[in-house]
Amino acid sequence: MERTLILLKPDAVQRGLVGQILGRFEQKGLKVAAMKLMQISQELAAKHYEAHKERKFYPGLVKFMTSSPVVALALEGIDAIKICRTLMGATFGADAAPGTIRGDFGVSRSYNLVHGSDSPEAAARELGLFFPEGLVKYDYAAINWIYDPVEELKK
Ligand code: UDP
Ligand code: MG
Repeated sequence: MERTLILLKPDAVQRGLVGQILGRFEQKGLKVAAMKLMQISQELAAKHYEAHKERKFYPGLVKFMTSSPVVALALEGIDAIKICRTLMGATFGADAAPGTIRGDFGVSRSYNLVHGSDSPEAAARELGLFFPEGLVKYDYAAINWIYDPVEELKK
């Protein structure tokens, strides 16, 4: 099982799209392992986006991400990182394919509704930043109906 940090960005919250976007991930089969509505501080935004510090869009990105609350999610599943990135679509809304979250709900380059970790290392780092208290442990009832039978996975 892999875990990934997903953020429903301020535009998703302000446009009332939280339910629909979360639903995309849920219906695909991802387990919600933690979830909270929160205000991102300057400090947290800087840590989260430190890889982009030298980029031209960085100041605007930090301003956007701290302008209004986000919904932070820890999602869990086999290949969760790749699957979530696929569901999200290309970075810029205008380029994102129909059927993806960014392709269906937006056109902007910066207001692109959703963040998803892009590697296992990034996921571990970002989950630590947003959920220092840890995730919520529980059995996911749907799991036996989502993945191939264990015997198939071993082949
Ligand atoms: N971004 C932007 N302008 C750009 C590139 C990126 O405003 O030219 C913003 C956008 O919100 C994006 C975030 O910066 O989601 C992080 O960029 P990254 O390249 O990591 O894209 P992502 O991984 O989110 O698809
Ligand atoms: Mg990225």
